[in-house]
Amino acid sequence: MDGYDEDNIFAKILRGEIPCDRVYEDEYVLAFNDIAPKAPVHILVIPKGPYVSIDDFGANASPEESKALFAAVSKIANEKGIAQAGFRSITNTGDNGGQEIAHFHMHIIGGAPVGPMVAE
Ligand code: AMP
Repeated sequence: MDGYDEDNIFAKILRGEIPCDRVYEDEYVLAFNDIAPKAPVHILVIPKGPYVSIDDFGANASPEESKALFAAVSKIANEKGIAQAGFRSITNTGDNGGQEIAHFHMHIIGGAPVGPMVAE
């Protein structure tokens, strides 16, 4: 993918230029409800750093940023009460992955069975 676009929607949310329905925040991570939820719980977890994708994040994030992202997924799933029954975490990457917003984000989707992993 190309370099980080500072005008992507999630960068604007991080700068406070557009609102979000915040669920969790710490030094490295922001999480908010997806604007078009696909299940009873649909939350996006994003790093505060300017990473385009999981490819970028995996290669360039600090250990603290990586740990915080995964710890936030766990905290949120437990706080929302979906960890026990299970949930899906999805990260779309690039064109083939169907990534619409070029700031790395992890979808947390649950609260009901979420169906097949990919379209047949
Ligand atoms: P992806 O296709 O993996 O890039 O997912 C992008 C997600 O961002 C979609 O599920 C959208 O519904 C969601 N989304 C787009 N704009 C906003 C917004 N302003 N606030 C919250 N979620 C958003």
